[in-house]
Amino acid sequence: MGLRMSINDYVDSIESIAREALGTAKATECCPIHRDVVIRRFDDDAERLAYAIATNILRQRDEMFMREDVMSAIKDELVSLSDECAECSKD
Ligand SMILES: [Zn+2]
Repeated sequence: MGLRMSINDYVDSIESIAREALGTAKATECCPIHRDVVIRRFDDDAERLAYAIATNILRQRDEMFMREDVMSAIKDELVSLSDECAECSKD
């Protein structure tokens, strides 16, 4: 019997791949002041590139992830992000 990932680990891994792909594609960036805040750049080309990067990441890794799950994680991540930093817009 091999090691089996829990559902939570699976979701965490999927989300980290989604974030990695988005960051690498520069579809998202960090607020220059609040480094922990991620902003969506609303760049269609970069977002398309993120899906391609995620597909490549999946090919390079041994883990068994459903491509559809990663694609929908990217979509969810983009939908959840704003084009401005919530901390900055407080001022
Ligand atoms: Zn900020």
